[in-house]
Amino acid sequence: MKCTRCRAPAQVRLPRIKAGFCPDCFKLYVERQIKRAVKQFDLIGPEDRLLVAVSGGKDSLALWDLLVKLGVRADGLYIDLGITGYSATSREKAQNFADQRGLSLRVVDLPARGEAVPGLAPFGSRSFCSTCGIVKRHYFNRAAAEGGYSALATGHNLDDEAGRLLGNLLRWQDGYLAKQAPSLPAEAPGLMRRIKPLIRLDEYEMAAYCFLSGIDYIIEECPHARGATSLKYKQVLNHIESLMPGTKWNFYAEFQSRRRRFTPGPGVGPDEAGTGAWRQCSSCGQPSWLEVCSFCRLKQKAALGTPSQATPSPAS
Ligand code: SF4
Ligand SMILES: [Zn+2]
Ligand SMILES: [Zn+2]
Repeated sequence: MKCTRCRAPAQVRLPRIKAGFCPDCFKLYVERQIKRAVKQFDLIGPEDRLLVAVSGGKDSLALWDLLVKLGVRADGLYIDLGITGYSATSREKAQNFADQRGLSLRVVDLPARGEAVPGLAPFGSRSFCSTCGIVKRHYFNRAAAEGGYSALATGHNLDDEAGRLLGNLLRWQDGYLAKQAPSLPAEAPGLMRRIKPLIRLDEYEMAAYCFLSGIDYIIEECPHARGATSLKYKQVLNHIESLMPGTKWNFYAEFQSRRRRFTPGPGVGPDEAGTGAWRQCSSCGQPSWLEVCSFCRLKQKAALGTPSQATPSPAS
């Protein structure tokens, strides 16, 4: 197959857009997809200064690389979750990436703060991953606010978002559907606007981009991701995509044009409080729907030493 753009031998085949590219034209294609996503969903303006949530994996490192290449002011944030057999390597990959390019990486060392996720998880009311989410959300918002950033950029790609969309639709989660967008405004002062610039690119394209750009990333997933329901939705969509290339993007893009039909209901806020207005957490000062935010409640329970009956993650 020849490159669709320059007729050199193609190295990356993309059935979903009926094209194939040589390495240089493929990288150009990826950059253009980011620019198109930025324009289509109004993600980044000239005044923006972004904080990129970096995990050491392919998506977040490629995102950071691409944003910097496109001239966007973007620093990285890495949160060391303290997960054995995963965090040390992912931290090393993130730090090496930043050092090699002279980029600024903020690191939150949870084990050093006595807040490693495996230590807090037994005190969470739900799964290991949900505790992890509470901790990450707290530090994302805190780091973004402290550093004066205008938005938090995450490396969610088309596979992640289409899989999540399928899951939310199958369970008719109206509240989550209403909030499933490539750009989410800050819900309260002190919370960050969130953007997903990789939304037009899929898993395979991100891995190919990293390979062709020499980006060294952690290949292993977090051990707690194994067996996650979200992976099953991705597998189903991959099967449909192999039969009908292009379906995944159409599914996601068509949903975006209908998203406003869904309205956020109670129970989808950061504290699952049901109803009520935002207030300041009496302990840490971050916006919360309850007197004390979910992160501080978690820490209080851990200090008291009373584990909850949390559902263990598949790998724990
Ligand atoms: S898989 Fe779960 S525990 Fe691992 S990083 Fe993701 S949310 Fe955290
Ligand atoms: Zn080419
Ligand atoms: Zn708090």
